[in-house]
Amino acid sequence: MNYEQLIKRLDDIDPIAYGKSRNFTDGAVTQLSPYISRGVIDTKTVLLHLVKRGYSYYHVQKFVQQMAWREFFQRVWQTEGERIHSDLKQDQGAKFNKGMSLSVDHATTGIEAIDASIKVLKQTGYMHNHLRMYTAFMNCNLAGFHWHDAAKWMYYHLLDGDWASNALSWQWVAGTFSSKKYIANQENINHYAKSSQRKTYLDCTYEELAEASAPVHLLESVDLNLTTNLPVAAPITIDNSKPTCIYNYYNLSPTWRKGEDTNRVLLLEPEMFARYPVSDACMAFMMEQCKNIEGIKLFVGSFAELQQFTRESTLYFREHPLNKHYIGIEDPRNWMIQISQPVKGSFFSFWKKYERQLENQFK
Ligand SMILES: Cc1cc2nc3c(=O)[nH]c(=O)nc-3n(C[C@H](O)[C@H](O)[C@H](O)COP(=O)(O)OP(=O)(O)OC[C@H]3O[C@@H](n4cnc5c(N)ncnc54)[C@H](O)[C@@H]3O)c2cc1C
Repeated sequence: MNYEQLIKRLDDIDPIAYGKSRNFTDGAVTQLSPYISRGVIDTKTVLLHLVKRGYSYYHVQKFVQQMAWREFFQRVWQTEGERIHSDLKQDQGAKFNKGMSLSVDHATTGIEAIDASIKVLKQTGYMHNHLRMYTAFMNCNLAGFHWHDAAKWMYYHLLDGDWASNALSWQWVAGTFSSKKYIANQENINHYAKSSQRKTYLDCTYEELAEASAPVHLLESVDLNLTTNLPVAAPITIDNSKPTCIYNYYNLSPTWRKGEDTNRVLLLEPEMFARYPVSDACMAFMMEQCKNIEGIKLFVGSFAELQQFTRESTLYFREHPLNKHYIGIEDPRNWMIQISQPVKGSFFSFWKKYERQLENQFK
């Protein structure tokens, strides 16, 4: 899907059906997240599109609130930086500090809806939000693995992999960035995934589940060695009489500085991908999105190595926590919510503070 088709797809968003059904795994969710996470489109553009379509705020509130979760997580990453790699608010109290449940990786937990969704994740790079929560619950709160390695596993497979939404959602489920650990029983899973499985180890009350120990097959661990296959780049030539716009895994916006006469470079830093590995499918999806940006050239190497080719050229890039070592002119991201101070605390205090700003857009 190219950028024009993506913009047309915004007409398919049904915020009313979304509000009623988004928690069901066959609900009216948008699957826009791969494009949002890769920075092809941003939440503000999606919001303004809904305004243009004439909805009242009442009808879009649930949808807009979910997009606000995304901005909240991004803002927390800005504020907390590296700290989002470790338990933010309280210790998880994990039984196993390394690895993840082999049954989760192999889709052999025995819970049909979850196993099916893990297979789909590996085939398509997408998993519904509720199934992400169930998967994280099984790995962290039932089997007792620390959230970090499994979050990296999920990030690796997701086309929408975004370390802020990913790490902080895992922390939310694991109770290190929320007030309690998330749990779900078979009845809940059957309801939202429309499955009918019974007599499983999750087929009990919440009180029983809170006291239950995990079945032994969930405790077998796997220590994944995830790696990224980076594309091979042709030698780069830069016209140093022009500025250079730098794109990367988190900024592939075709509208950013559009129409300006610049070099355009996709910078893939091996060090970044060694720390945050992604699958071949994610790499292919990202490369596909580059086709929206005319004249873009690939550079595989560090920012410092790129600088050797751009000595006379002014460098432009978009603000992001992973770009802190870039030197040049930093453009802001296209935020849906303008904040007045660094974001800390809970989503609901963030929401309380800024919801009015969003509501006003619909007046
Ligand atoms: C364990 C776990 C890991 C996750 N990892 C990621 C990740 O790596 N990248 C990612 O983008 N999201 C992640 N999420 C959040 C959420 O699951 C996805 O954003 C959502 O499922 C994307 O599907 P969609 O585009 O159909 O969403 P829709 O429901 O159609 O929502 C529209 C947009 O709003 C935003 N959004 C919706 N729900 C959430 C949410 N709960 N948190 C943050 N933003 C949201 C997304 O940008 C999404 O594209 C994770 C959630 C969990 C529980």
